[in-house]
Amino acid sequence: MLISNKSKEIIDSCRFCWMCRHICPIGNATGQERNTARARALSLSLVERGAEPLSEAADNVYECALCGACTKECATGWDPVQSTREVRLELAMNGETPDYINKLLDNIEKTGNVYGKTDYSDELKEAVRRHSAKTDTLLFLGKDAVYMAPECAVGAIKLLEAAGVEFTVLENEPDSGFAMNFLVGAAEETKAAMTACAEALDFGTIIAYDPADAKTFIRDYKEWDIPLKGKAVTFTAFVGELLEKGSIKLKKGDMVCTVQDNYNLSRELEEYLPIRNVISSCANVKEMLLYNKDTMLAGNLIMNEYMPEIIKTVAHDRVVNALNVGVGVIVTESPAEYKMLAADGGIEVRTFEEVVSECLQG
Ligand code: SF4
Ligand code: SF4
Repeated sequence: MLISNKSKEIIDSCRFCWMCRHICPIGNATGQERNTARARALSLSLVERGAEPLSEAADNVYECALCGACTKECATGWDPVQSTREVRLELAMNGETPDYINKLLDNIEKTGNVYGKTDYSDELKEAVRRHSAKTDTLLFLGKDAVYMAPECAVGAIKLLEAAGVEFTVLENEPDSGFAMNFLVGAAEETKAAMTACAEALDFGTIIAYDPADAKTFIRDYKEWDIPLKGKAVTFTAFVGELLEKGSIKLKKGDMVCTVQDNYNLSRELEEYLPIRNVISSCANVKEMLLYNKDTMLAGNLIMNEYMPEIIKTVAHDRVVNALNVGVGVIVTESPAEYKMLAADGGIEVRTFEEVVSECLQG
């Protein structure tokens, strides 16, 4: 079966409100109807009825960022993300995964990361070495930060150091399973990666730097009954608690910025207040179009591997949203969105930890 009965029933009850067209960052970037949740559902139902081969739907399901904006808006309660994941799994089980996705899966198998990288920056290595001793608190950096945005990883380490937190960073972090879940959904290999990661993390507190890993630890592991030994918290919430407890003090400056909510935090985990509480202690925050739970994706490094031009446009659209409210700075919590927004070059992009570090007092 291509998609679950529940998904099929809900697709059939579509009210043609077209919210999924207006809200889709990929559809907006390509201008193509096929990228909207509704159009994808129609194409899947053609496959389901045998009118088209499964392979016809393959590219389309990999053009979705699984960002959940359409799920939030759909009047029927349908979850297009769930159906898209189901089809990705079906493709994998039938050996019909596109070659450009197989290449990324091979990278995971050979190197443990989707980008096929085997080494990371010397500056990050040195920062990681400073925290090789075992403590009860782990800072889990994640593959995007380690291999694609090491400056973000170093910044996160330095902020916790400046805040006087005792923590460990692993030299060879296990894979959280996020990338596998993104590429093939609930396959046995995805569960195996998640289980191996959970078993390797023997800490009381796990601070997930990357929102994608945070969502994987906090929501997916729970849903799939994969026990984490410690408590997972997001990096932003952890820093927010330090501020609340008075463990750090911040000095407010003149900067006017907007916040790019990452969907993994704001929509999936419903966490959008900590970044505002902290950043508004450092700067003046002006909201742009689509924020909090309504946020719009600003970039995805995995998709950037196979559809870079479209992902560039996605980031650019978000830069335009920020410029339209008259701010000169976007603050982001996601290493993937940081890299894509910064590559656009149309606005100054700062990481959450960078802004906080500069405003630390004492
Ligand atoms: S999950 Fe995001 S990218 Fe995929 S169809 Fe929905 S809004 Fe578009
Ligand atoms: S948001 Fe839901 S109900 Fe509205 S057009 Fe899209 S699939 Fe149909």
